[in-house]
Amino acid sequence: MIKAIQVKSRKRIEFIDITQEIRNAVSESGVSDGICWIFVPHTTAGITINENADPSVVVDIQEQLSKLIPYHSHYKHLEGNADAHIKSTITNINNYCFIENGKIVLGTWQGIFFCEYDGPRTRKVLVKIIEG
Ligand code: ZN
Repeated sequence: MIKAIQVKSRKRIEFIDITQEIRNAVSESGVSDGICWIFVPHTTAGITINENADPSVVVDIQEQLSKLIPYHSHYKHLEGNADAHIKSTITNINNYCFIENGKIVLGTWQGIFFCEYDGPRTRKVLVKIIEG
């Protein structure tokens, strides 16, 4: 079974901490040991695992990504969101974490972030929990 989590972004570029939503999905599944796959079915968004203790970490990531890949440049894609497609490829659109004793295994400072690159929008994150 695939669970869909709805995420609403409020800015064009925004990282939204979805760690608790992923924890809830794992706990609802009743799976005690396995893998939790997280997939973003969008071409201008992504998923990343990084520090959620200091909120300035993800702001630095967003700012540096935007320096590397500016909003406006000489892009061939004329929809006005070429930067968002490139940022999506850089962070990628899937990630995973292990499940042990019914809980996701993350480092002390790690959180799971939905990466919005062309918001504000309502988005979906798909979660597949595999026992084993
Ligand atoms: Zn586009």
